[in-house]
Amino acid sequence: MPILRNPDSLRNWRQQQRGSLALVPTMGHLHAGHLALLRLAQARAEQVLVSIYVNPLQFGPEEDFASYPRTLESDLQQLAEHGCTTVFVPSDDDLYPRGAAEQTQVVPPERLSSILCGTQRPGHFTGVATIVLKLLHLAQPDILVLGEKDYQQYRIVGQMLDDLNLPVQLLCGPTQRDGDGLARSSRNSRLTSEQRILAPRLATELRQLCQLPVGSLVQAPARDARERLQAAGFAVDYLELRNSESLEPVSEIRPGARWLAAARLGDVRLIDNMVIP
Ligand code: AMP
Repeated sequence: MPILRNPDSLRNWRQQQRGSLALVPTMGHLHAGHLALLRLAQARAEQVLVSIYVNPLQFGPEEDFASYPRTLESDLQQLAEHGCTTVFVPSDDDLYPRGAAEQTQVVPPERLSSILCGTQRPGHFTGVATIVLKLLHLAQPDILVLGEKDYQQYRIVGQMLDDLNLPVQLLCGPTQRDGDGLARSSRNSRLTSEQRILAPRLATELRQLCQLPVGSLVQAPARDARERLQAAGFAVDYLELRNSESLEPVSEIRPGARWLAAARLGDVRLIDNMVIP
């Protein structure tokens, strides 16, 4: 499995490729969610490129950039075992030679990026949009594969592809969960054993909210769910029903609307979302 370590080697590799290419960007510490995206990419394109890069630009100064789990050797082994054809593993100096602060940045529309996770993580989606655009320019893929778990990210990147006229098809892989419902995440490995037992309650609340009758008002049940989570030990950043396209608030239960939540257990921030069937 070729491991490309810098932009030049990626460009050279790309120039030699024939056939369709799907890109799966990740920050590593791979789990079943990432591997499901790899399988989706393999089913849709002749070549698959997985990138592994913990992007400093999308972390705030108080966030977990330094403690984000980095397990490159076992990531590479998992990718090879799952038939991944090529991996891009750049360094900070390769992608931000003048430093991240000096980087030209892509600012997504306020309407999508200042809400939900953008409220607690100012600048986060600018960092995400910037790295995704850099990766698209370097890899020139036909298909970009993202996960539904990071739904706001998926919507913002989709909007960027449209707004900047990028000829890339966006695919969304469904959220992969542990047996108890917890959405797989690299950050789950930082939960203590007590927090790990509590963590699936976030998904349980969302699942129950998705079962409310169509037409019922959401304010009271959303508040009750937030209160139950807080009582259990979560610090809830948000738990809200939104339009799946525009991400605007929705006040009554409607098929296709989406519950989105972020909540912290200690210093581990969990996010999850579910669509009303
Ligand atoms: P990350 O490494 O957390 O930046 O995630 C890389 C990609 O994997 C993103 O497109 C995520 O949305 C996706 N992803 C992360 N967790 C899951 C999951 N549990 N199920 C499906 N996709 C996921």
